[in-house]
Amino acid sequence: MQYESLNNPVASAAQPGWWFVFCKDKLLVKISDDDVQVPFVSAPGELNLDPKRLLHVGQLGDDPCFSTRLDSENSVPDGYAFQGMRTLFSRLDDMSYGIAGRAMQLVQWDMDHLFCSRCGQQAADRNKEGAQICRSCGYLSFPRISPAIIVAVIRDNRILLAHSGRFINNMYSVIAGYVEMGESLEECVKREVEEETGIEVKNIRYFGSQYWAYSGALMVGFTAEYNSGDLRLDDAEIEDAGWFAADDLPMLPGKLSIARELIDWFVEKNLNKEQPS
Ligand SMILES: [Zn+2]
Repeated sequence: MQYESLNNPVASAAQPGWWFVFCKDKLLVKISDDDVQVPFVSAPGELNLDPKRLLHVGQLGDDPCFSTRLDSENSVPDGYAFQGMRTLFSRLDDMSYGIAGRAMQLVQWDMDHLFCSRCGQQAADRNKEGAQICRSCGYLSFPRISPAIIVAVIRDNRILLAHSGRFINNMYSVIAGYVEMGESLEECVKREVEEETGIEVKNIRYFGSQYWAYSGALMVGFTAEYNSGDLRLDDAEIEDAGWFAADDLPMLPGKLSIARELIDWFVEKNLNKEQPS
């Protein structure tokens, strides 16, 4: 089945459709045996929910995909539960999970932009690109995506990994950070690595990208080579960092992240020398 994204006019659920219902960062799913699914709702009363604002976020085949947000997890019908998006990554089918990531961001953005940020009037209209248009002053506000870089820095068959105090465990990962205004992605790579670790890099190459639905960040991955400098850590961001060999790595991020893809790329290159890079 094909999914076609729509730039969410506020909808009324007059027809059956897929409901992506959020409470904070949790999604409502229907649970049967070991299976979880996004609920398909024939009539709005079916889930016994009373959403204040329903968005039409796309079409899956002939069926609309609606999204909404609840303030509490109360009144969830039997057989349904709210589950965290991270938990659902490997449990929900890929198509539903992708739509859920987009739906979560749109619901959040919609909630944060009920009024025009320029003149304070209610800003309910949308154009076909999904931007909100203020009825009073005409100000256009587009759904927000936050670009961020993530980079594997390599020095003599070792990778630069850092542990941040923000991590919930003793995990080490590659360097990442948000792009600042007026900055290219390559400039951001250089600045972030230098600010956080004191290392200067060269030969920055694009690796791949990943949309990180939990934060609305578009993670743009790079590889880079060590150029100069000694490790000098930004105490506010980084608690520890070091150069690690492929056969002597610390605790790493989960398999699903681009951070881990970058580290796996490094391991593959350095443990299997015959493999082309
Ligand atoms: Zn306005």
